[in-house]
Amino acid sequence: MKIAWIGTGIMGAAMCGRLLEAGHECVVFNRTESKARVLLEKGARWASSPAAAGEDAEAIFTMVGFPHDLEETIFHPERGVLAGQKDAPHRAKFLVDMTTSRPALARRIAEAAAILGIQALDAPVSGGDVGAKNGSLSIMVGGETDAFEALAPLWNVLGKTIVHQGPSGAGQHAKMVNQILIAGNMMGVCEALRYALAAGLEPEKVLESVSTGAAGSWSLSNLGPRILRHDFEPGFKIRHFLKDLRIALEEAEAFGSGAGLYLPGTQKARELYDLLERNGLGEKGTQALFLWEDQKKI
Ligand code: NAP
Repeated sequence: MKIAWIGTGIMGAAMCGRLLEAGHECVVFNRTESKARVLLEKGARWASSPAAAGEDAEAIFTMVGFPHDLEETIFHPERGVLAGQKDAPHRAKFLVDMTTSRPALARRIAEAAAILGIQALDAPVSGGDVGAKNGSLSIMVGGETDAFEALAPLWNVLGKTIVHQGPSGAGQHAKMVNQILIAGNMMGVCEALRYALAAGLEPEKVLESVSTGAAGSWSLSNLGPRILRHDFEPGFKIRHFLKDLRIALEEAEAFGSGAGLYLPGTQKARELYDLLERNGLGEKGTQALFLWEDQKKI
């Protein structure tokens, strides 16, 4: 398939790399060109803008950082994907956003794309940098069923668990459920490892015991060992996780015609991660929550 891929950071580069290896033709664009180099070496072609990337594509993928990055990528009046599609001799059939973003933005993109005859899907993922590299992501898809089904060969290259959650925006809502789970879990992982160290236990032995019992989780198995090695580099950046916590809390506040849904655990996680970001750790991985004790301000 002819694919355009916009956003070649930690996740995007690994995911697009898998599509190239599976034999798909990829044209790529990223704000910082050097981050696409590894894909160009694998045979991808460079485009000078999101509009240019999509010119000859059947499916256009976006995997950028924040909702405002996505808005620019899609809606920029000259360089945006939709501006490019208006004049394209062969319009794309599908526009797939895999960024973790706002449900309302997913619906707005789907409406604008439909005017041009393009089917848009929101398809955020879970499974981290590891899952992006080895193709084991969980992909949560919102949008029309026929578009979801038509893209099965691509989903299968990128992920292992691929579920159609409902209409546009449903994928992003499912991803917020995922992030609420991660929020509580990360606080548990970091507190538990702090406790193990304070109790004088050998943390590797403790990890061995608790990772396979009822307390086991992806975060514990993948990020626990990084914490013990004092490796706080991102997999998943704190500033992106804070973006997700803000979206989840804003969505929750608006449920029940504004009556709101109270999420105290998620609020606490946001407080803790906010502090880390204020202290300059926004570019570190979410496992750097372990360092909150050292911040001495909560
Ligand atoms: P990342 O490494 O920061 O990658 C984002 C990429 O998007 C960067 O290369 C960035 O360009 C590019 N970008 C931003 N705005 C752009 C624009 N207007 N035009 C073109 N390119 C643009 O982040 P990531 O970890 O891959 O995460 C990407 C998304 O996936 C985020 O929404 C994140 O929340 C979500 N996610 C991440 C993980 C994870 O474990 N990392 C897991 C699941 C979901 P620059 O190179 O110039 O910065």
